Amino acid sequence: MIEPVGTIWLDGELRSMDQSRASLLTHTMHYGFGVFDGLRSYRQDSGDVMLFRAAEHMERVVRSAEGISIPIAYETEALVEAAQAVLRANDLDDAYVRPLVYVGEPNIIFSHWLNSVHVAVIAFPWTGYSDRNRERGSSAKISPWVRPKALADFFKLKACGHYLLSVTAFSEAQRSGFGQAIFVDEDGAVCEATGENVFVVRDGVVATPPASRSILLGITRDTVLTLARDLGHETAERDLTVDDLLTADEVFTTGTASELLPLPKIEDRTIGDGTMGPVTAAIQRRFNDAVRGREPAYGSWLTKV
Ligand code: PMP
Repeated sequence: MIEPVGTIWLDGELRSMDQSRASLLTHTMHYGFGVFDGLRSYRQDSGDVMLFRAAEHMERVVRSAEGISIPIAYETEALVEAAQAVLRANDLDDAYVRPLVYVGEPNIIFSHWLNSVHVAVIAFPWTGYSDRNRERGSSAKISPWVRPKALADFFKLKACGHYLLSVTAFSEAQRSGFGQAIFVDEDGAVCEATGENVFVVRDGVVATPPASRSILLGITRDTVLTLARDLGHETAERDLTVDDLLTADEVFTTGTASELLPLPKIEDRTIGDGTMGPVTAAIQRRFNDAVRGREPAYGSWLTKV
């Protein structure tokens, strides 16, 4: 369960969460026509609290809104400042920040431009998975719902409505006893998990599906490609089949909320020896050092709260 916080940022001001309720006529609630993102803050050994890759996340909010023609009154920098303000107001350190752009009232006809547009930034305490769960990882089934291949560009936007597919596939996977679901497209090409990108490791090469598939270009995906290269691995953005996953040495997912998570079981198959592989473990350690400010080379990814 996620603990609610007292103060949020809405349309340029800090406000109490309790006084920030949306109406039943909120356009986004009817049609999923909105955009959101998720970023994390981490307490450093020094005691400072830092946002990780904040500008990239907020740029994606702005780009996603523009991509579906929702006009927003704030630029990247103002949204980063909003996240900093919310974290400070709630005295949070390890936290998850959720920017949400939604279309309000008064019309519930499709013409969204006739309605108000709101930007909220909400934060929750979030320390992530325990070390044990982070090592144990998760399991996945292949989703019976395919990601439409022709919508590769559309899926680059972090739009609320895309998550109808994610929530449905995730719930179905959980009901079937799996932790997660992986989407493929009509070609049978692996796309991504419901809220994470997917990676395979084979013979030391770290590979993930390319931008030409219907995936979100995850910021953790980009981080992991950089860290893997810095650790001396060859990396590849290339098409992967389900068979590539099942026969890989290691499979893992990447996302802001779950960071790097091994996937030692897919469908009824054990991947590798069924435990977190050495390459995943090394990148996970490096990732943890980067977000906690222990690796000066990645200092530019951190923004002080
Ligand atoms: N794919 C989807 C569908 C997602 O929702 C997310 C989470 N934002 C990701 C991938 C991973 O993206 P990021 O690493 O930027 O969190």
